[in-house]
Amino acid sequence: MTSADDDLVVLVEERLRELEAQRASLRSDVEQMRVSRSLDFTDDEHDPEGSTVSLDHARDRALLAATEQTLAELVAARERLAAGSFGRCEGCGEAIPEERLRARPEARYCISCASRQAGPRRR
Ligand SMILES: [Zn+2]
Repeated sequence: MTSADDDLVVLVEERLRELEAQRASLRSDVEQMRVSRSLDFTDDEHDPEGSTVSLDHARDRALLAATEQTLAELVAARERLAAGSFGRCEGCGEAIPEERLRARPEARYCISCASRQAGPRRR
């Protein structure tokens, strides 16, 4: 294992810790909001504050879902690091540029495969 790989192991571990902390705080926010909404059920339509709260709630839930998705990808990335297949594009088999891996260590595709994949779906 090269020192660049060691760096990436540290990077993945750091990101995992960050996202786990973020997930924990989002979970408690979502839970608190759910509890306060069920205790104090207000009519969102006629209560401007109420609709702000439900917007926040929706945003927190979306953020929580995105955080969990990235966490799952990071766990998979850590497994690839252990297996020695980390840093290979799953689309074309080429090495993913280290710059990209540093920005997004959970990336499974090189930039051109990732944009090809995102392309047709985003119409
Ligand atoms: Zn590729």
